Amino acid sequence: MAKCPECGAEITYLKNFCFNATVEYKWSVTPNGSINCDEQTMTDYDEEEYWCPVCDAILTTSEDEAKDILLSGTPQVVDGQQIEST
Ligand SMILES: [Zn+2]
Repeated sequence: MAKCPECGAEITYLKNFCFNATVEYKWSVTPNGSINCDEQTMTDYDEEEYWCPVCDAILTTSEDEAKDILLSGTPQVVDGQQIEST
C-alpha cells in the first residue's frame, strides 16, 4: 500500500485540487421532479496539487509523480511477472 512520504500514513487516494478550472455540468430533471447536476468534464485548469488525505501535505504538482506515489508499495506486473515496487 502507498505511504505518504511526509507523515508515513498508509494512503489509498490523494486529494487533487485543480485551480482556475472550467467545469461542464449536465443539468437534468429526475423522474421525481428534482434537478440533478452531474459533472461531465473539467478542462483548462492552470495548475494542480496532490495532497495527502491524512496530513494535507502537498506531495506533488505532477500527475505522473502522483501516480508513482499511489503505486508505490503496490506489486507491479511487468511482462507477466510480479515484481515488488520500491
Ligand atoms: Zn501525509
